[in-house]
Amino acid sequence: MKTLVIATGNQDKVAEIKSILKDLKLKILSKDQVGLSELEVVEDADTLKGNAILKAKAILNRCDADIVLADDTGLYVDSLSGLPGVHTARYAGDHAGYADNRIKLLEDMQGVEAGERSARFITSIVILDREGNEHEALGVCEGTISTSERGEFGFGYDPIFIPEGYDKTFAELDSDTKNRISHRALALEQLKDLLERIGVEKNEEDTCSK
Ligand code: IMP
Repeated sequence: MKTLVIATGNQDKVAEIKSILKDLKLKILSKDQVGLSELEVVEDADTLKGNAILKAKAILNRCDADIVLADDTGLYVDSLSGLPGVHTARYAGDHAGYADNRIKLLEDMQGVEAGERSARFITSIVILDREGNEHEALGVCEGTISTSERGEFGFGYDPIFIPEGYDKTFAELDSDTKNRISHRALALEQLKDLLERIGVEKNEEDTCSK
């Protein structure tokens, strides 16, 4: 059975990915479980895919995983010419928290009319293996930026992002709804196909009970 290491210590992401890949023959581990919890990668590429590749390569070079998976997400606001984009995590500065980033974004968008507040979350997921295969899955969630914070759920920019087709922010929607329509969910949906393409097999069906 092949081993896949996820380049994150975020247990929510690990659980989400494990659940989506449960019918593939894979042993799935987080970077913490292969002794790399301290590994910090400088994400200085100018694209999401570039940053995901940097994270994946750092892990592949330091453990004996067959496959490594890494993701990177950005929020692209049209009225700010695509900012914060690759700088989404650190929009208000290197040590900025989620709230600082939201405050800066709302300030930068002061005066932007309702019809011009379009934005999208984009997630790039990259898988690399020892044979040199490299595949990317992209998930895009279109929406708009609200004029003030609303809602208690979620994290990051959730209180100011209203997904297309809804009148609530991500932070006002229940997690089941968000996890069905989000950028990350849409990218993860394509993952199974990508893994099968590089030779990961499906689990045998349980034939004992037949
Ligand atoms: P990461 O690449 O998953 O670490 O995401 C980079 C940054 O994007 C995070 O620090 C968050 O600020 C933001 N972000 C990513 N996904 C979401 C989301 O689903 N909702 C709100 N913000 C998000």
